[in-house]
Amino acid sequence: MSDLISLKCTECSGSLTGENNSRVFFCRLCSSSYYVYQNSLRRFPLHYIEPAAQNLTQQKTVYFPFWQIESQYKVQSKESDWGYSGAGIFYIPAFFIRNIDYFGDIGYYYMQKKVILKPGKPQDLPILPADRGLKTAAKYPLIYLYKAETLRRKGEGLDINVKHKDFSVILIPFYKTGFDYVDAVLSWKYPPGALV
Ligand SMILES: [Zn+2]
Repeated sequence: MSDLISLKCTECSGSLTGENNSRVFFCRLCSSSYYVYQNSLRRFPLHYIEPAAQNLTQQKTVYFPFWQIESQYKVQSKESDWGYSGAGIFYIPAFFIRNIDYFGDIGYYYMQKKVILKPGKPQDLPILPADRGLKTAAKYPLIYLYKAETLRRKGEGLDINVKHKDFSVILIPFYKTGFDYVDAVLSWKYPPGALV
């Protein structure tokens, strides 16, 4: 049995919202998020993307939780002197996706976009539990970098080293249009079966 942890917000004493299998819990009152780490809760201020002003705004906005991982990396060709060091912010779904074929590597495509986050209070909490742990998510920056750089270097053999510097949880708005969800970053449409 794991130890019980108190599910109260340390900022405002509000009750935290989550499900049995959640790795992240949210405070509705002060918009904090909490990650379970070594039997205690690490708190983050919650960041989210402001929904884009477009004709979809009359639609219901819902939020999906994503990991935000800040990393430094080194890319080096195995075949030439080409290489560089860089830093980036990666976004990885913090929820389990039943049908990965529909959803694809959404975080890979977020990496190519300039995502602008706002601290503060989103209209609501995420509709899906954040039940996909950081350990799984932390593998994805390397996967995304390999994909991007292998395309750019046309299949050249590459060594890529990634060091994670920091992480937090963010909320990305999706618009509910009829039965589908449209994400606010790429405006891609997902049938509900793709998500849950
Ligand atoms: Zn709170």
